[in-house]
Amino acid sequence: MELLEERIRRDGKVKPGNVLKVDSFLNHQMDVELFGEMGKEFRRLFPSKEINKILTIEASGIGIACITAQYFQVPVVFAKKSQSINLDGEQYVTKIESFTHKRVYDVIVAKKFLGKDDHVLIIDDFLANGCAAAGLIDLVKSAGAVVEGVGIAVEKGFQEGGRLLRSKGVRVESLAIVESMNADTGEIIFREQA
Ligand code: 5GP
Repeated sequence: MELLEERIRRDGKVKPGNVLKVDSFLNHQMDVELFGEMGKEFRRLFPSKEINKILTIEASGIGIACITAQYFQVPVVFAKKSQSINLDGEQYVTKIESFTHKRVYDVIVAKKFLGKDDHVLIIDDFLANGCAAAGLIDLVKSAGAVVEGVGIAVEKGFQEGGRLLRSKGVRVESLAIVESMNADTGEIIFREQA
């Protein structure tokens, strides 16, 4: 998606450790107009009328998922990273290793919000090693629901996540795929997409 690539080129910062910082429009301050264009593009890429729910993970996925959901007219469920007194009833739980925080989280969804009749689109901001997406897929499968696909804003194509998920037959669509990036020069190269 040209608009997103341009914005990453303009405002993204390449940090050591393969981290792309996009906190001025995606991860801290959020450009809602840009999110709207991203939501429209996800709708175009996932036209299935069966999708009846969007699943994401707190915190950074929530904004994108909510704006995207307006184009699907479905609810958003976000997986929680910690137990809270507001989480009652039975839960699906899985473990996800965080790429940015380098720790393992229990990730939780209440059973009442995910069930066998659901056809789920998973949305997240980044795809790196694929742990977050794999964990969310695991939650959907535990619920007996169907994964219709995974929609990602920024995939780091030089890490394993995209290849792993696609090799398992998961439909992954990323709006921008970073082929390579250099923390010393700040250069970011994107993969050509149809
Ligand atoms: P994965 O589980 O695929 O290894 O990593 C995906 C998660 O880590 C995303 O939910 C995202 O929050 C975070 N993440 C991974 N790489 C980056 C990055 O380069 N920049 C930012 N801002 N977040 C990242």
